[in-house]
Amino acid sequence: MIGGGAAGLSAATVLARARRKVTVIDACEPRNAPAQHVHGFLSRDGMAPAQMLAIGRDEFAGYDGRVVQARATAIEQLGDRGFVVRCDGGPDLTARGVVVATGLRDELPEIPDLRERWGVDVLHCPYCHGYEVRDMPLAVLGGDNRPFTMHQASLVRQWSSDVVFFPNRITLAAEERTRLTARGIRIVEGAVAGLVVKEHQLSGVELADGQIVPRSVAFVGPRFVPCDDLLTELGCATGEDRWVSTDPTGHTSVTGVWAVGNVVDSPAQLINAASAGTKAGIALNHFLLEQDVQTAVAASPRHR
Ligand SMILES: Cc1cc2nc3c(=O)[nH]c(=O)nc-3n(C[C@H](O)[C@H](O)[C@H](O)COP(=O)(O)OP(=O)(O)OC[C@H]3O[C@@H](n4cnc5c(N)ncnc54)[C@H](O)[C@@H]3O)c2cc1C
Repeated sequence: MIGGGAAGLSAATVLARARRKVTVIDACEPRNAPAQHVHGFLSRDGMAPAQMLAIGRDEFAGYDGRVVQARATAIEQLGDRGFVVRCDGGPDLTARGVVVATGLRDELPEIPDLRERWGVDVLHCPYCHGYEVRDMPLAVLGGDNRPFTMHQASLVRQWSSDVVFFPNRITLAAEERTRLTARGIRIVEGAVAGLVVKEHQLSGVELADGQIVPRSVAFVGPRFVPCDDLLTELGCATGEDRWVSTDPTGHTSVTGVWAVGNVVDSPAQLINAASAGTKAGIALNHFLLEQDVQTAVAASPRHR
């Protein structure tokens, strides 16, 4: 397994419980690390992200799973005998099958102070953290991910009646403006110069003309960039959107290689990533089972 977030650890645990020898190589930088709490994962509500993964790693270790803290730098095919996974900061490993669960990178709009507030009071997913900021003065800041941001502006209004949309670099069509204002969203034009932070809390959005609009929380639409170099360099096929394509079990176009979680599915929340990991783990076990049967048949006396 490359990546030890919700997706990778779930795949790893299924396989370890199926008595396979499993190693997770993890750089230990999960996407939701800046957040204080996890929401939307049945039975884990309010838990710290690091605690959730620590429990997952312990469960995996309880089935003789091994976690290596390192960064995988390449996957190389060993003919039809499996793969070598090259690692920076750890040993190279050979494997009969590989699951890549390396997640994605959130590229935030270039607004000063945004990165520092990310996951605290700068958010992107109201399903994850909207309830916690309900009825607060919310901002939605325009960035490079136009479709996501336009949808987000209408969506977050569900959690608060006080939403201000700052198009920033987005030029609104008349119909879009009508839809937003009809929904009770105030539109404030002008370039966003930065965030105003007082006593470690967001208190406003500052425009280039010096105007400050008081706000407690800002939503943004990051560009979602998959961490898929290992897959594309191996030759895994991509779709029209240039993301690596998989079958419903997460299997890529390269036999023996699965890809699951945010690396191939940007909207996947933790529970979806975990579910995809479990599905891939079972599929990989079936793939190994078929190899095991073929090896046994080839070695059986009747076959010789
Ligand atoms: C601020 C924020 C808050 C969020 N809050 C929630 C929430 O409350 N509820 C919810 O359901 N979802 C939430 N999400 C979404 C959640 O983060 C994702 O659904 C989840 O992280 C996807 O899991 P994953 O296993 O695919 O990727 P990740 O959790 O990102 O794990 C990928 C792992 O792979 C490692 N890795 C990457 N490249 C390599 C490499 N080359 N070699 C070895 N390891 C590597 C990374 O270091 C990381 O540990 C939030 C997202 C953000 C940004």
